[in-house]
Amino acid sequence: MQTTQQIADKAAALMPGLIGDLEKLVSIPSVAFPGYPPEPVMEMAEQALAKFRDVGFTNAQLMEVPTGYPPIYGEITGPEGSPVVMLYGHYDVQPAPPEQGWTTDPWTPTRQADGRIYGRGAADDKGGLAIHLGTLQIFEGKPPCTIRLMVEGMEETASNLEPFVDAHPDLFDCDLFIVCDMGNLRVGEPVLTTALRGDVACIATVRTLQHPLHSGLFGGAAPDAMMALARLLATLVDDEGTVAVPGVTTGEWDGAEFSPEDLRSSADLLEGSTIVGAGPVASRLWANPSINAIGVDMTSIAGSSNVLVPEARAKISMRIVPGAEPETELDALVRHLEANVPWGAEIEVERTKEAPGFKCQTDGPGYAAAREALEEAYGKPVAYAGSGGSIPLLRKLQEAAPRAEFILWGPEDVAAARIHASDESVDPSEIEKMIVAQALLIQLLAERE
Ligand SMILES: [Zn+2]
Repeated sequence: MQTTQQIADKAAALMPGLIGDLEKLVSIPSVAFPGYPPEPVMEMAEQALAKFRDVGFTNAQLMEVPTGYPPIYGEITGPEGSPVVMLYGHYDVQPAPPEQGWTTDPWTPTRQADGRIYGRGAADDKGGLAIHLGTLQIFEGKPPCTIRLMVEGMEETASNLEPFVDAHPDLFDCDLFIVCDMGNLRVGEPVLTTALRGDVACIATVRTLQHPLHSGLFGGAAPDAMMALARLLATLVDDEGTVAVPGVTTGEWDGAEFSPEDLRSSADLLEGSTIVGAGPVASRLWANPSINAIGVDMTSIAGSSNVLVPEARAKISMRIVPGAEPETELDALVRHLEANVPWGAEIEVERTKEAPGFKCQTDGPGYAAAREALEEAYGKPVAYAGSGGSIPLLRKLQEAAPRAEFILWGPEDVAAARIHASDESVDPSEIEKMIVAQALLIQLLAERE
């Protein structure tokens, strides 16, 4: 077995090569969303496959899927009877349209004075792939555990991995599942992500009139649909911004705190904007629901005239507490919408999404080893954090590998990485430390077997 110092020295020596690999991968616009060209996504799949073959997954291949981009699967068999560890990541990225306000070209990886590398996917999740590549190189392709690799190509869009898991549950059987698609709250301060909120959504259509009406002749007596919808949306939260829908599950957070200052800097609130909700920020983000209107259909300003609008629609998204049942949470939201629409307006609610959250089991031996490895790699105590984002796939994996423990970590520090937004970036020091942590974890598991 290698000492922490040996592993850290190796990781440091690997970094220039890994940064080169990362920059090459970031320059490929592997956006798997519909309407984006498929060639770069396939090029990315091939490039990532080649890199993983180079580091020891000699049998890795692009798996056949009925639709969409292929996941990469590979396996390195460890010593007889050693634990099975699965490394997860994804090679597709979010789009990076100019209207997001990028200050550098998203597909030209750029190292800036702060030491970070900027570009779409630098953190999410090509940085995660760099960590996996580095981890394997620490063991020179011969890890002390059996290592399975799953790199999907459609994580950011309508993923095809759930049906793939259903079709090949045997491939996902493992003792420990490492999802390297998360991050610390701040660079250099290690956290394990223990809980993810779920996500439900619906579209509410409000109608008040049979057709548009002259607003001068009828305004003030006849109701318009947009104002009715606005009043309805306003009932979803109280004056502070806390969810005010009866029957929606709330919770409490007992892990790391995320300060109002952290929130301000990572969310880039406008100076005058207040932070909404009540209670500790971490509790609002990770242990309580939130409701947002994420789209509205009504007459556009360009097409508007002095008429009362007969129909307006809003798409409403609600993040739900980890562990809560999406169906019953959405039931509560729909009931509230139907009961609170003002002025006798007609309302129709279409349910569009029911994705569960996730809670890690934190009392198993794999989790203890991960904690120890992370603490050792960073030289600091580990805190628990939640994440507002959801990964519905995790529930599916839990079914396929019921004995597996789940470790959620990675290079995407919350304070500065700006994943999915403009100027996404990664701090190379996080990649380096996470390589050390993953290598130590794999060693610890092998030793304790
Ligand atoms: Zn991701």
